[in-house]
Amino acid sequence: MSSTGMWQCQGASCGFIYDPARGDKRGKIPKGINFEDLPDDWKCPVCGVSKRMFKSLDV
Ligand SMILES: [Zn+2]
Repeated sequence: MSSTGMWQCQGASCGFIYDPARGDKRGKIPKGINFEDLPDDWKCPVCGVSKRMFKSLDV
């Protein structure tokens, strides 16, 4: 099993996926940062919901 480390936003009709290999340019997150290591006040760059609204794509 390989893990992607990707997390998807569960905000209404958003679907933004955080990929640690890409980071979040708009949120000033450099690539290589794991979702778990994002600051607690980080928000979805698309719809603005908090980290708690994200769900891991790894099963
Ligand atoms: Zn979102």
